Amino acid sequence: MATDTLTRSPLEGDASRPNVYRNLIDGEWLESTTGQTFENLNPADTRDVIGIFQKSGKADVEAAVEAAKRAFAKWRLVPAPRRAEIVFRAAELLLEQKDVFARDMTREMGKVLAETRGDVQEAADTAYYMAGEGRRLFGPTTPSELPNKFAMAVRNPVGVCGMITPWNFPMAIPSWKLLPAIVCGNTCVIKPAEDTPLSTFNLVRVLMDAGLPKGVINIVTGFGPEAGAPIVENPNVDAVSFTGSSEVGRMVGTAAAQNFKHCSLELGGKNPMIVLDDANLDLAIEGGIWGGFGTTGQRCTATSRIIIQKGIYHKFVDRFVERAQKLRVGNGLDEKTEMGPAINREQMDRDLSYMEIGQREGAKLKCGGHRLDKGDYQYGYFVEPTVFVDVDPKMRIAQEEIFGPVVAIIPCDGLEDAMEIANDTRYGLSTSLYTKDVNKAFAAMRDLHAGITYINAPTIGAEVHLPFGGVNQTGNGHREGGVGAIDFYTQWKAVYVDYSDRLQRAQIDRAE
Ligand code: ADP
Repeated sequence: MATDTLTRSPLEGDASRPNVYRNLIDGEWLESTTGQTFENLNPADTRDVIGIFQKSGKADVEAAVEAAKRAFAKWRLVPAPRRAEIVFRAAELLLEQKDVFARDMTREMGKVLAETRGDVQEAADTAYYMAGEGRRLFGPTTPSELPNKFAMAVRNPVGVCGMITPWNFPMAIPSWKLLPAIVCGNTCVIKPAEDTPLSTFNLVRVLMDAGLPKGVINIVTGFGPEAGAPIVENPNVDAVSFTGSSEVGRMVGTAAAQNFKHCSLELGGKNPMIVLDDANLDLAIEGGIWGGFGTTGQRCTATSRIIIQKGIYHKFVDRFVERAQKLRVGNGLDEKTEMGPAINREQMDRDLSYMEIGQREGAKLKCGGHRLDKGDYQYGYFVEPTVFVDVDPKMRIAQEEIFGPVVAIIPCDGLEDAMEIANDTRYGLSTSLYTKDVNKAFAAMRDLHAGITYINAPTIGAEVHLPFGGVNQTGNGHREGGVGAIDFYTQWKAVYVDYSDRLQRAQIDRAE
């Protein structure tokens, strides 16, 4: 297949013949050595095949890593501001094609168009931000303890970076990893999630159109154990950045540790929103609906627990449930849709199983709890927005990450009690408090144990220039976004220049 058919958007193609996408290795579009492919299906309508992608294996990963290693020898020497200019141009191209990429993404991922436009915007925001970093990449100069000696620390790239990404932010999350990595002078091998590879292709093709040299970013598509694990295990991969489930994250972290690789893990969340009696109720309800059901609850920052002070508990519950019941569920390509499908059958079954678990545990199911499978719904993975009330904080639906449109509402006595409930989780990504009391807001900013706290906003809505990541089992302490990304994709080198023309021994030759 000619390259031009690969770069065409499937929307322009013949719907009866889905595009075939190949791996990108050293600037060439290559078939997998396994000879196998898989279909990328629309979760709102599985009759819609978005594309055929390579089901890659270890040999493909090895070829991609070799290409990245060769490219690194040259790319690391390109001045950072020049590298950054390519990323800046890519931002402009992304925005020019925002609607096309958003439609591709809604087709492959299911979330509504407003959200997929936001996802492309986030990649562009990251590109603008990281392009600016190309003229910074600051390191300290500092006085030496010895005379006629100069001391500084410089940032060097790490080398070949392996990236494994999830399906919920199919362009934004790859951009958080790829863009700081290449601005810092690294080269990359990325394996996008098997459910949403096209958006990574769209991002990388834009970078190539913007002038990225061959081999700097290589794409290998396929499934986790066959195409993801070999990236982590490859001795020529110097850093690994993973976003996904805690279960896989533990395996990735363990494998990366075998070769002492840099490893960034961004994993799950069970994010609480606290609403106190004095809160603006309308605002809190609106925030809870967006935080709980936006992206069909499939965000690591989704508001999955709402902890309400008793004085407004019943009022909140009644109005929240009324709103949840009215949400328009459907195909995200319809502008009127408010909540799309689950990403795949497995996730839908997981949602449904937690809807049952909640009832078995004794939580009160106020709305939802079922699959939607009549009419047009029958071709997709749709479930109802689901609200459980009177949830005990120890119940599984209040402790385990569901990654679906299931919200657990928990009563509380006041801020102290609420924060105890909020912090009683194995995760610690995002948290939120609704109150008008500034003293309580500041206490929560200090005491909610998480990587992110919102005041009077739900737990979702991160901006790209702030640190993103969490505490506890949400990750291993790294942060994406902001300067934390630059820290991850560079390694420090301390440089000493002695211009005294004599041997000066640190800590020994002290000028008295
Ligand atoms: P999600 O719940 O988002 O599907 P996963 O952790 O299963 O979370 O998947 C996130 C990414 O990790 C995907 O790209 C997937 O293919 C990849 N992956 C899954 N299993 C492995 C594995 N054993 N090794 C490396 N990557 C994996």
